[in-house]
Amino acid sequence: MDKPLTRNLKPDGSAATLAEYQNTGGYDAWRTALRDLAPAEVVARVKDAGLRGRGGAGFPTGVKWSLVPRTPSQKYVVVNADEMEPGTFKDRRLLEGDPHLLLEGAALAAYAVGADTAYIFLRGEYIEAARRLEHALAEAHAAGLLGRNILGTEFSLDIHLHTSAGRYICGEETALLNALEGKRANPRTKPPFPQIAGLWGKPTVVNNVETLCNVPGIVAQGAAWYKDLSRSQDAGTKLYGASGRVNRPGLWELPMGTPIREILEEHAGGMQPGYELRGFLPGGASTDFLLPEHLGLAMDYDTLQKAGSRLGTGTMIVLDDRTCPVRMVLNLERFFAQESCGWCTPCRDGLPWVAQILEDLVEGRGRPEDLDQLAKLARFMGPGNTFCALAPGAAEPLQSALKYFRGDFERYL
Ligand code: NAD
Repeated sequence: MDKPLTRNLKPDGSAATLAEYQNTGGYDAWRTALRDLAPAEVVARVKDAGLRGRGGAGFPTGVKWSLVPRTPSQKYVVVNADEMEPGTFKDRRLLEGDPHLLLEGAALAAYAVGADTAYIFLRGEYIEAARRLEHALAEAHAAGLLGRNILGTEFSLDIHLHTSAGRYICGEETALLNALEGKRANPRTKPPFPQIAGLWGKPTVVNNVETLCNVPGIVAQGAAWYKDLSRSQDAGTKLYGASGRVNRPGLWELPMGTPIREILEEHAGGMQPGYELRGFLPGGASTDFLLPEHLGLAMDYDTLQKAGSRLGTGTMIVLDDRTCPVRMVLNLERFFAQESCGWCTPCRDGLPWVAQILEDLVEGRGRPEDLDQLAKLARFMGPGNTFCALAPGAAEPLQSALKYFRGDFERYL
């Protein structure tokens, strides 16, 4: 099983059935865990494997699970399937193509931390994914893989599907928990982290879809196997994507740490005729731009951090030489301004201000002091000044565009 995530994905985009999933070893890890492994052993396996969260932040999954108190109490697992980062479509492919892989990963997480209830919080627009997940849930319940006394053991688990009402902020884990509780979806103060006080105040593990889809492979094949899949210090494989003026926009499961050049030139087929690569956002909209000089870098968490950006969701948005970076950033900042929940000042007031200055610039109303003001606002919205990562994320393409494409901004003055 050298492709832990995509082995069951079919070219026609249809979903793998329960029978097809089981034919490739599906639910073997689940059976093994229930029969032979203590919950703490499942946690240890995931920790040893070095799996890092694929939602964008890269927090070690096994560490997250081990922070859940061992004392008996109500606990929850929440699958964050509210994929809404611009340019990001990796979880959608997994949800639609292999829903049982996610269910098995979520079940293993629930077993590992002692939760008897799990929720899948799904982006509202993912209507086909919802249909397929409901079908897979019914199949898994009917086969005795979920529900009461699973496979004759003491362990019981129900997984419920909840579709989001449709705001970007609902993907922020604590805003998501508020939304699930029927409250206004604003982020909560952290700490306490959800592992201690999450859904209805109970210990809760919130994991991204792709993260959980890695778990069955790790439990079935072990930490060493998983680490060997990678080409860098970060373990496993990654779903990398590319969009923009490349010949073959798409999504590929490749060893973690695959060089950016290889992803863009071999897998995405290079730039379309008549277009040159000018830069790219490596992991969705809320990451810093990188340049053609960074193509040789390994696409992993630490390497991109050192280069001044982040792996984020691992789905690249390519900037070509015929697209104006200022207008591209304006487009992104308008999105972030619209999606701000308004809970804290730098985000609520900073983002519309940024969007307004950028709009004035491209419409010929710019003033020389605007560029300094944009840089100041990017700092104002930065880490430590807000409840959540929305505004700091929005600041990343802005601050890096000001650094790398300053001439394009100045030309509008
Ligand atoms: P974060 O770094 O605050 O937290 C990441 C995870 O680690 C969370 O689950 C958090 O609870 C846990 N964590 C962090 N520090 C911890 C600690 N000290 N103790 C215990 N647990 C801890 O990041 P975040 O705000 O959850 O997420 C931001 C990321 O989300 C960005 O990197 C962005 O790229 C990504 N993002 C993804 C999407 C998407 O659609 N996939 C959308 C928007 C943003």
